Formats: sequence, structure tokens, C-alpha cells
Amino acid sequence: MTFLRARGVVKSYGHTPALRGVSVDVDEGEIVAVTGPSGCGKSTLLHCLAGILRPDAGEIRYRDQRVDALPEATRSRLRRTEFGVLFQFGQLVAELTAAENVALPLLFAGTGRREARVAALTWLDRLGVADLADTRPGEMSGGQQQRCAVARALVTEPRVLFADEPTGALDSLTGEQVLIQLVRLAREQRTTVVLVTHDVQVAGYATREVTMRDGGIDPTGLGLATSVRYP
Ligand code: ADP
Ligand code: ADP
Repeated sequence: MTFLRARGVVKSYGHTPALRGVSVDVDEGEIVAVTGPSGCGKSTLLHCLAGILRPDAGEIRYRDQRVDALPEATRSRLRRTEFGVLFQFGQLVAELTAAENVALPLLFAGTGRREARVAALTWLDRLGVADLADTRPGEMSGGQQQRCAVARALVTEPRVLFADEPTGALDSLTGEQVLIQLVRLAREQRTTVVLVTHDVQVAGYATREVTMRDGGIDPTGLGLATSVRYP
């Protein structure tokens, strides 16, 4: 059984076509970089795969489930339990400390406060920001905030992590450090990762690159990455 699959996915915003029939398979444990120029449909594909957007046509399958056919409540539960999502700007809650932010997905999933706090501290430690547990996002650097956002995306130990330009707002050195940690932790947890990026460096950390062009998969497969660092 395929782990995660898109088949003939079509999606438009009003009259703007974003996906013109995209098919892609992702195996469990892969770290797939979706690359291609701005506006080619990368984010839209990621949102369809993650069950955030519903395609106009085609299907999204996750293990034995037709994600696109699930009612919103079920898709939302899937996103809270099996999937993790991470965006360019960590979208941490400004009023909450790092530990409270990281604990949030667990509290939503029904985990008790004490247990959620312990897990949050563990994940902050794994990202090397344990000392920021009681700090609010406004007092952190961009890199520190994004490390907390990675901790928050992984704290539920999702089977799939969807990341849209997760290091796009950081300088390249900080971005690369955050990405190395993300990839290392994903591999340790056997988390499958689908990563949208237009950055050659970032794509180099994937196990496979899928290149898009103009709402479709680029059949030439000529990616951005010159080398794959984690074969
Ligand atoms: P990428 O992630 O590769 O930059 P997107 O998936 O964001 O591409 O966008 C694909 C196309 O859909 C682009 O033409 C973009 O302008 C358009 N688009 C994306 N989101 C919206 C939206 N919410 N409303 C209207 N058009 C959109
Ligand atoms: P990304 O490609 O990383 O998603 P964008 O700048 O393309 O970044 O999109 C940021 C947000 O704006 C997304 O929510 C996207 O859906 C929306 N968006 C993108 N293009 C358009 C558009 N042409 N019209 C309206 N909204 C858009």
C-alpha cells in the first residue's frame, strides 16, 4: 500500500489554475523536497496533501484513507494526530511561552497538562533551546522561534511532517542549522517529511527531490539540488 499519494490533483483559485493534474507518491520515511519556481503550485500541493485544501479533482490517499473525501472534522483530526505542519513563520502564539506553545498541540489532543509540559521541555531540549522554555516569542531571535516551531510540529510525533519553506525567513546559516536538526530528528523518529522549498541548499537535505513547473511535475526531473547529502 502506498503511504501517501496524489493522483491527478487539480486545484484552482477562482480562475487561477494552481495544480493541473499532479500525481506523486511518497514512501514512508522519505524526506521529499518539492522544488520549483515561485507560483508553480508547491504550497498548494502541500496543502492538498496535508488535507488543508480540498482538490477540485483527483485524489489524495494517506495509507488506507481518501483524505480528499473525508469530512473536515476527520481531516482536522488527522492533522492533529498523524500529521504535523510547519510554515515559514513559526506562527507561535505571542502571549505564550516557548514551553506553552510547544505543549499546545498535545493539549488539543487531550494530553494532560503535566505530561504535555514534560514533552514540551523534552522537545525544546532536542532542538537545543531548553533554556528558552519560559521565554515568549517576542524576546527570541528568528532562529530560536523557528526551533520552537519545529519542536511544536514534532511534539505529537507525527507520521508525516508537512513543511512549507520552513527556513525561508531565516538567514542561510541559521536556516541550514535548523534544517539539519529537523532532518536528523525526523530520521530518528522515522517521520516522513514533505518539504516545500525554492532553496538549493535546503533541497540538498532531502532524500528525493520532486520538481514542479507551472502547476505540474517537471517531467525532466532536473532539480535544483546538485547533491543529495543524505542518500
Ligand atoms: P508556490 O508555492 O510554488 O509559490 P502556490 O501554490 O503558492 O505556488 O501558488 C500557485 C498559483 O496559485 C500561483 O499562481 C498563485 O498566485 C496562486 N494562488 C495561491 N494561493 C492563492 C490564493 N489563496 N488565492 C488566489 N490565488 C492563489
Ligand atoms: P508560499 O508560496 O510560500 O505559500 P506565497 O507568498 O505564494 O507564499 O503565499 C502566501 C499566502 O498568500 C498563501 O496563503 C497563499 O495561499 C496566498 N496567495 C498566494 N498567491 C495569491 C494570490 N495570487 N492571490 C491571493 N492569495 C495568494
